[in-house]
Amino acid sequence: MDSIEIAWAAGLIEGEGTVCVKGSGGLYVGVSMTDEDVVRKIHSIAGIGTVNMCKKKENRKQVWVWRAGKRSEVIAFIKKIRPYMGARRTSAIDKVFAHDMEHPQWRVPKGELVHGIRSGYKKGCRCKLCKKAESVYNKDLRERRETGNVRNKGNSIKTVVQRVIV
Ligand SMILES: [Zn+2]
Repeated sequence: MDSIEIAWAAGLIEGEGTVCVKGSGGLYVGVSMTDEDVVRKIHSIAGIGTVNMCKKKENRKQVWVWRAGKRSEVIAFIKKIRPYMGARRTSAIDKVFAHDMEHPQWRVPKGELVHGIRSGYKKGCRCKLCKKAESVYNKDLRERRETGNVRNKGNSIKTVVQRVIV
């Protein structure tokens, strides 16, 4: 990203974007709009995240969404755009940084089986806790399919927007 691209990305996010901590604690940066080319451009400039087509609503234009949620990538990206942002989004970005400092990302140690999370189930454990984690995930997945956000591992866009800090 050169400085012109960063400034362009910042401007787009200022107008059409969302930067927030999701209800699940994950970080989120995204843009959703009906101009597919613009959504693809921010994806290509940012070099992170994915582009998805939202489920089309009747009598509405097709909406496209670019979103990124991998913590290290989101942090690096919003650091770059921060100097270009207005007061409201600068403060939203600072809240994301604060959240990142206060809640360091917890990872399952390699090769270890931790019960009560989905990776426990995926590693073959069928204890009560792991089964529960898997069923909660599947229920969430069904809801996300209904809202057309199959690729988003966090909340549906609707939920995310309701929880937006920006
Ligand atoms: Zn288990």
